Amino acid sequence: MFSRRNVIPALLALLLIALPLVVLFVLVFWPDRVPPDRTRAPEDLKQLCRTVACQWHPWEEIVIHHSGTDSGNLAIIDRYHRERRHWESAGYHFVIGNGTASGDGEIEVGPRWLNQQVGSHCRGRNDKAIGICLIGNFEKSGQRPTLTQMLSLAQLTAYLTLRLGIPVEKVRGHRDMPGAVTLCPGKNFPMNGFIPLLEALRDDYRPR
Ligand SMILES: [Zn+2]
Repeated sequence: MFSRRNVIPALLALLLIALPLVVLFVLVFWPDRVPPDRTRAPEDLKQLCRTVACQWHPWEEIVIHHSGTDSGNLAIIDRYHRERRHWESAGYHFVIGNGTASGDGEIEVGPRWLNQQVGSHCRGRNDKAIGICLIGNFEKSGQRPTLTQMLSLAQLTAYLTLRLGIPVEKVRGHRDMPGAVTLCPGKNFPMNGFIPLLEALRDDYRPR
């Protein structure tokens, strides 16, 4: 049925059909594959930072916030800050989703980070502080950040502190900032568990 002359084109055709199927299978079913919105490997974070076209602002500290709402995402906060507060864009640099209006643990990068503009999130410290907001109301009884949110926050802060030379002591909750009068990021935000996680991840990210 097959002459020898037909075998090679037939094999090539088979390969052309099979190869995309194999690639698709690996992409979809690869056992260690984690959905990209649930993890921030060092390469992903570098990619986030590559999107910044201008010189990095000399940041000195990082302030953690909660949104004080059950749900939300960067677009919702951005609209709220523009329409209600009449700011030019969302006051935070990063927003970490809780699976309601964005992925659980998804890191959204705000325009103020992309343009390296000072934020509007912590009175008196905005010119020095990067603002990261976790979606959720952690002052509300029984509401805590998801584990995936905490991992994303730890990975993002580990990366930023190493990249910018910010000491761990300069990563604080909003209420712990000098002069702050707020409960943010809420009594259920596990600051005592967060700092050891951040320190462990910094060891992982540190170039060897
Ligand atoms: Zn706050």
